[in-house]
Amino acid sequence: MRKISILTAILAFLPVLAGAQEPRMSIREAEKLIPREVRRPVKSMIPGDKPLAHDTLDTSDPVIKIVLLNDGTWHYVKDLRFLADSSVFRRNWKENELNPFRTPLQDLPFRITLCLADSSSRFCCPRQIKVFSPFGWRRRRNHMGVDLPLPMRTPVYAAFDGKVRCSMYNRGYGNVVIIRHASGLETTYAHLAERRVSAGDYVSAGDVIGLGGSTGRSSGPHLHFETRYDGYAFDPQWLIDFETGVLRHGYFVLKRKYLTPTSKYYPESEEEEEEIYKTEEEERAEAERIAKEMAAARYHTIKAGDNLSRLAVKYNTTVNAICKLNGITPSTTLKIGKKLRVK
Ligand SMILES: [Zn+2]
Repeated sequence: MRKISILTAILAFLPVLAGAQEPRMSIREAEKLIPREVRRPVKSMIPGDKPLAHDTLDTSDPVIKIVLLNDGTWHYVKDLRFLADSSVFRRNWKENELNPFRTPLQDLPFRITLCLADSSSRFCCPRQIKVFSPFGWRRRRNHMGVDLPLPMRTPVYAAFDGKVRCSMYNRGYGNVVIIRHASGLETTYAHLAERRVSAGDYVSAGDVIGLGGSTGRSSGPHLHFETRYDGYAFDPQWLIDFETGVLRHGYFVLKRKYLTPTSKYYPESEEEEEEIYKTEEEERAEAERIAKEMAAARYHTIKAGDNLSRLAVKYNTTVNAICKLNGITPSTTLKIGKKLRVK
């Protein structure tokens, strides 16, 4: 068994070794490849439907193990206890305070790459159902998560592997569990009827962390689910399509501008996705280009006798260009006193 185990481990890491022999690729190029590879949606695993493990093999990385399952398959797992010393599970670690973070928002990085699920860490939708109440401004107060209706005492699942930071009762949240994940992301599960985990517990995606309920400030049984980074909540729908139970990306580029209650998830077209994955330099260049364009803009106040052809000649441009800048057509009537952008 031992010989086979070592062989399996070597075989499993061959692609990694092969990758290491490719020195021509720059780090920037490599980084571009990684998110593309894992940007595909990740299906929620079926909770409770885990084949039994019958052997665990070490790899060259103490954090990563290979688990052989009784159905003949295998997968990587991360042993989070080895990460216990990593700063993510030590920095701002308070087990009786919902939000122990103190970093001013403007001091956070412009963009944060979160590895949510890869070959060694999986995902489980905490409760698969259409979002009942979305993230954001609601009834003159901020709603920092999404509300997912559920029948009383329905199992609620940990979304990702992680370590329980809080398991407590709070007046607003009721019975609440907060899990910190290796990426630094924290997920919050509120209004639970019962908590099944304690602070300090390590959990895997798909573990039952509690039963759904209506404790705290709640008007009926539902799961209030939050995603936070450094204490700042963002719309969980950026990560999860709750209706289908799909994790939208294995890697997610969290932008600082999403970390406010006014920034809601918008369904992505391919163009918008490109926009999301733009680099900081690309975004700065784009902003500079727009600023330059705005600075170069020229306006004309319509006087009696003006028409588009005359303006085109006067400002050395074309009728079409003026129309495009103002969203009008050549047959639009020009109103005296109105301002028209000509450059
Ligand atoms: Zn809520």
